Amino acid sequence: MTKKKAPTYRTVAYRCPACGTVIGQQVPPAGELWDTLRSCDQCRVQHFVLSDNDTLVVKVSFTALERVSRRRA
Ligand SMILES: [Zn+2]
Repeated sequence: MTKKKAPTYRTVAYRCPACGTVIGQQVPPAGELWDTLRSCDQCRVQHFVLSDNDTLVVKVSFTALERVSRRRA
């Protein structure tokens, strides 16, 4: 019988790009890239968080996302 261990992820803190509140973000295992849409508990500004095992990149708001998708289209 094998028991599956629930993976534990390291957590890093970053500041909300809008209001500066500290937010915790889980770090994916090496070799994986996560993109997460988060909203700040304090100011409710939605922002995009890209994280891999070494880096955490925070991108702000739908305006930035729209610009990216327009460039791709
Ligand atoms: Zn905020």
